[in-house]
Amino acid sequence: MKERIYSIPLTDALNGGCDCVMCALEEKLEHDAVDYFMGASKMEPDVRIMTNKKGFCRRHLHMMDDAGSPLGLALMLDTHLNEIVSRLGKRGKVGGLFAAKKNLGAVADELESIIGGCAVCDKLTAHLNDAAGNLVYLWDKEPDFRRKLEASKGLCLPHMLLVLKAAGSELNGKRLDEFADFIVNTQMEMLETLNEDVNWFTKKFDFNHKDDDWKNSKDAVPRAVNKLVKFE
Ligand SMILES: [Zn+2]
Ligand SMILES: [Zn+2]
Repeated sequence: MKERIYSIPLTDALNGGCDCVMCALEEKLEHDAVDYFMGASKMEPDVRIMTNKKGFCRRHLHMMDDAGSPLGLALMLDTHLNEIVSRLGKRGKVGGLFAAKKNLGAVADELESIIGGCAVCDKLTAHLNDAAGNLVYLWDKEPDFRRKLEASKGLCLPHMLLVLKAAGSELNGKRLDEFADFIVNTQMEMLETLNEDVNWFTKKFDFNHKDDDWKNSKDAVPRAVNKLVKFE
């Protein structure tokens, strides 16, 4: 049986009344993943070999830089840079014009591989996939969780996709149909209402509507942003 270690944080996120329960959970998991690499794990040889190779993306390197532990980050960056110098050094031995052209491609490939990875993103993605499966499991098995999820504000579109994919491996037959119906119907209803609110927001700038009520449109733009993309 799979571990269901996200049940408590998922229930906490749901009780928090956020715009997307998976965004609230991802925010927590992302900080946990950054803390993991900034913490004791950075002294473990296996972890260090992996971070030296993968490095970190722009978002997560900035989060680590902001974490207030310059020495911890420096230790990781020292050996990561060492590896970059060595990898680029092997590719960058340019001799003569034709060799230079050939090497340029090889250096570009090596650079793409160096900047394309992120140890935090990889860890986070694995945890998020498990958490999405956990959410589907709780909907299936826990009536109280199901009731709260069905009454919640829905999911952002990237997390809607993640949860639907997880449902495909967690459920089957009638239960899968039921879950897919619930997600698609509630999300469509939420998106239509959001669309109406954003539309009314634009109309309020029309002279003819200037004295009309704002209805539910005053915060329609930030709400739309939170539904179209994940939390920032
Ligand atoms: Zn989300
Ligand atoms: Zn990352």
